Amino acid sequence: MNILVINCGSSSLKYQLIDSESENVLAKGLCERIGIDGSAITHQPAGGEKVTSKVDMPNHTAAVKYVIEKLTDEKVGVVKSLDEIGAVGHRIVHGGEKFAKSVVITDEVLKAIEECNDLAPLHNPANLIGVNACKELMPSVPMVAVFDTAFHQTMPKKAYLYGLPYEYYEKYKVRRYGFHGTSHDFVSARAAELLGKDRKDLKIIVCHLGNGASVSAVKNGECVDTSMGLTPLEGLIMGTRSGDIDPAIVSFIADKEGMSADEVINVCNKKSGVLGLSGGVSSDFRDLAKASEEGNEKAAVALETWSYHVAKYVGAYTAAMNGVDVIAFTAGVGENNIDAREEICEYLGYLGIAIDKEANAKRGEEITISTPDSKVTVMVIPTNEELAIARETLRLCLCVIKKQ
Ligand code: AMP
Repeated sequence: MNILVINCGSSSLKYQLIDSESENVLAKGLCERIGIDGSAITHQPAGGEKVTSKVDMPNHTAAVKYVIEKLTDEKVGVVKSLDEIGAVGHRIVHGGEKFAKSVVITDEVLKAIEECNDLAPLHNPANLIGVNACKELMPSVPMVAVFDTAFHQTMPKKAYLYGLPYEYYEKYKVRRYGFHGTSHDFVSARAAELLGKDRKDLKIIVCHLGNGASVSAVKNGECVDTSMGLTPLEGLIMGTRSGDIDPAIVSFIADKEGMSADEVINVCNKKSGVLGLSGGVSSDFRDLAKASEEGNEKAAVALETWSYHVAKYVGAYTAAMNGVDVIAFTAGVGENNIDAREEICEYLGYLGIAIDKEANAKRGEEITISTPDSKVTVMVIPTNEELAIARETLRLCLCVIKKQ
């Protein structure tokens, strides 16, 4: 079955068509500037060239129409007609406490996702627009919602509650939810598979280090803690996000700079992290490494502060699980940044971790970077959220077919 995976943002839509049998990507692409002047679709069939077409996309329905057009196009298409798309898997950012697993999308599910909108006001409404656009154009194709938060729903209360008045949890569901769940699930499962072990017998720390970054503790196959919170702002220092800060800083800076709390939070989301720390050099780790090599002290401090915080989380989650068997690095920085991995692991010598420098010299590959006598296995495992969404979509569609 061919599965269309959709990741819809407020003005963008990423897609992949995946053959669920071979798990090959048949085509992928991106619609940009939806609802804004200058919208365009970039489409790439497997093994073919990328083609960008400037087309008018006033809304997401128009974008999905172009996606279908490209997928079925005579020249750059990969299927003959819509009939060859068996199901659609949608990435949904926030499932609140309602969704601990992926679900087949029904009207009831859509309503329940909508009820989570105030927990992710920037993401969930956009995700839902994508679902509705697909529903309009492919009414008979089954759709599945895969949530970024679902994998973390196994966290115990002691991990997800904040030290705030309990009534805020009861009234507003203020708690830690965690994000990147699809990636943490995929990478921890793959780590166990590569080691030929059952995930249920392992204590795994997944470091998803991209522009957005989070760490999770996966014990006996279940997430027991993760660094992102009510929103993706908490936890590690990221590309542009501050991660953990003293909450009193918000009103302090608001007062000093004549800003509202929302404006300060916006700075914390968009102008902080390694971008802010480096004095505006870049949020991209490649630029920062170059600037640091050229003697830019702030860039060097930004990188040093970033890896120190990752190492601290690994230490915390080792304590949370009373040990760790595997540490897995993933996402853009985790998969590719050799120096960052080495620096983080240097802090972890007390765990008996030893890194094989030669193995660690590789980028973007599934590889064990610890030495054979290292007390903890350290791995690099490229994440594949789209494939994970396609697998979930297939699994749920097969369940529905079985029941019928
Ligand atoms: P992501 O959000 O997962 O796409 O990750 C983006 C981050 O990955 C950026 O900060 C990039 O600098 C980093 N990255 C991607 N490729 C490389 C590479 N080859 N070497 C170092 N960092 C990389």
